Amino acid sequence: MEAHVVGRRIEDVWCSNLRLREPLSKRRLRTLKGRQILSCERRAKYLLLHLEGARTLLVHLGMSGNLLVTDERQKHDHVIFHLDDGAPLVYHDPRRFGIVLALTATQLKNCVWLQGLGVEPLSADFDVDLLAAACKGRQRPIKTLLLDGHVVVGVGNIYASEALFAAAIRPTTAARRISRPRLERLVDAIRTTLQQAIDHGGTTIRDYAGSGTGGYFQRQLAVYGREAEPCRTCGAKIKSIVQSGRSTFYCTQCQR
Ligand SMILES: [Zn+2]
Repeated sequence: MEAHVVGRRIEDVWCSNLRLREPLSKRRLRTLKGRQILSCERRAKYLLLHLEGARTLLVHLGMSGNLLVTDERQKHDHVIFHLDDGAPLVYHDPRRFGIVLALTATQLKNCVWLQGLGVEPLSADFDVDLLAAACKGRQRPIKTLLLDGHVVVGVGNIYASEALFAAAIRPTTAARRISRPRLERLVDAIRTTLQQAIDHGGTTIRDYAGSGTGGYFQRQLAVYGREAEPCRTCGAKIKSIVQSGRSTFYCTQCQR
């Protein structure tokens, strides 16, 4: 995004009248007209494009959204930002679970979507002190705690299972029962798992329509989606259970 849009000015905005997760506001999106895009940032799953005059474009891709810099028009294009140079920036979303909002500084500060988010897992803020404090006295299973996003963001269902395998911690263990050295291992495992996934272009999702290089991490998954297959470490059968409505995979031998 940075390479393609920073420094460019929004000359015009078009939007469909269809509802995404929130209704699109043509009026608010048009307040971005004439403003230059100064920087791009990501917070959890939210993309933030900061513009001149303290305005921010917040985008969440939902289940099937994409931000594309392209001259091609497709069905399911919902917002088009015409820029002063090169191809337009297009928000495309067949399933319409995404969010596209134009915010003032005050609206950004109070934005409901950004409240209560945990720390970024690859930032220095995510360390054993933070995780230990969050686990203290908590009877919740560690996997559920990781997944809910209040302590740390970005550890999705696949990566939570994978990181817990790498740290040899059983996903059902009550958070309060995990010792500090094991939590330290878990912090490292989360960082390593996410970094490897990023390096390999993520894990394939059904509607993936990005640069065409996604999905390689999938081939290396240790436990996720491998129910009844042999553990790559010990050969025991991988077990699958459901926790808070989400599938969890683990090895009964390696994870205690
Ligand atoms: Zn095993």
